[in-house]
Amino acid sequence: MTDAPAPCDGDRFARSRAYRAHAVDHLAFGVSSTPRATQAPCPVVISHAEGVRLTDIDGNRYTDYALGYGPLILGHSPRPVIEAVQAEMARGLRTAAIHAGEAELAGLIAATVPCAEVSAFVSTGSEATHLALRIARAATGRVKAVKFRANYHGWFDSLSVAGSVRDDGPNVIGQDPAAAASLTLLDWGDADAVETALDSSYAAVIVEPAAINAGCFPPPPGFLERLRAATRRHGVMLIFDEVITGYRLALGGAQARYGVTPDLCTLGKALGGGLPIGAVAGSRAAMAPLSEGRLMHRGTFNGNPLSVAASIACVTELAATSAALYPRMERFAAELAAHLNHEAARAGLPLCARQVGAAAQIFAGVTAMDKIGDLAGANPGATLAFTAELLRAGVFTLPRGLMYLSAAHTEGDIAETKAAMSVAIARCAAPLTRSRQP
Ligand code: PLP
Repeated sequence: MTDAPAPCDGDRFARSRAYRAHAVDHLAFGVSSTPRATQAPCPVVISHAEGVRLTDIDGNRYTDYALGYGPLILGHSPRPVIEAVQAEMARGLRTAAIHAGEAELAGLIAATVPCAEVSAFVSTGSEATHLALRIARAATGRVKAVKFRANYHGWFDSLSVAGSVRDDGPNVIGQDPAAAASLTLLDWGDADAVETALDSSYAAVIVEPAAINAGCFPPPPGFLERLRAATRRHGVMLIFDEVITGYRLALGGAQARYGVTPDLCTLGKALGGGLPIGAVAGSRAAMAPLSEGRLMHRGTFNGNPLSVAASIACVTELAATSAALYPRMERFAAELAAHLNHEAARAGLPLCARQVGAAAQIFAGVTAMDKIGDLAGANPGATLAFTAELLRAGVFTLPRGLMYLSAAHTEGDIAETKAAMSVAIARCAAPLTRSRQP
């Protein structure tokens, strides 16, 4: 698999390519978030989204599994969310005062997420993890924290390190390495290492309870339970970063699915149903520094009425439909991963997929990806080339191979996507087949 444009592309992405050529004049790198520029065969410019369908400015149509990086758990145009936002807009965009929706949303989170007695709102997941760590430090009077390799907690300097299983450094240039100096970096899934490292000088252990960013790995048996026991033993706050897993792995997130309740969790993405919102939620004791007003919590856009209205509508809808919705999204994700594994094996292509809950991850360069330690064997360039073939076949994934399911995907979409996967695999396998011929 190579990532060169296929000759068959012709000018089907002509307008997207032309957009990018002039966008870079005044928009840094032509995008608002660097990974969007990595999409192959070229970053496509979307003109319209509805349900799970995207249409780009060249008129190409796709079934969407990127879902705005995960937030669109109800699809692109869920009526309850859109109506709630429209009604809220009619009341004005925002004020500098309290509005009644904030406490209503906090109540809904308390009713759905096991650890959540008290919540606080921010605008993004990065702010939520930043705030969670600050609360843990304020509550314990300690500074040190454990972070796991290949877990992603947002782009702020204090947590944006060890982005892969191999590299403990800052994730990008320009970071202050000293900002993360109080972190101890350990391998995700290694409970022995946590038990050895942890003592009562630590404020927190922060973890993605299922490692979706790394490649859709569920927690190894006993891992979360042992984190819970070890943190409790030393009076350390256990923080689940549920920015992806919240309202995605189950209504109550990974903590409900795996039956381990942290002191604090972060929420984002699916919480807002498409509008920007983040939250830290936790027990009364863990949230005390904020609840008692000792810890200053700031942010111009915190709890903004449009996002809060969207979030109330989204969580209400998820709660009302959860019994059927979560098993169905999970079944769809499992079917897509199984189909890809089957077809890749049949074609003799080094390609595989993993799935956890309503998310799946494609890896190229390997025929199996059993554990997070195997990540070093995957070939990100080849994965990008395969997701380019999927795009050509009408399936829009995150370029790095992550796929999210939503309430708006239907049996028909899954059947079409399986067929598109077969086409993409056949295209990738064709050069291999030719080279095998005598
Ligand atoms: N935490 C996790 C687990 C994430 O996956 C992300 C983003 O992908 C973040 C935090 C940061 O969220 P945001 O991009 O909204 O700042």
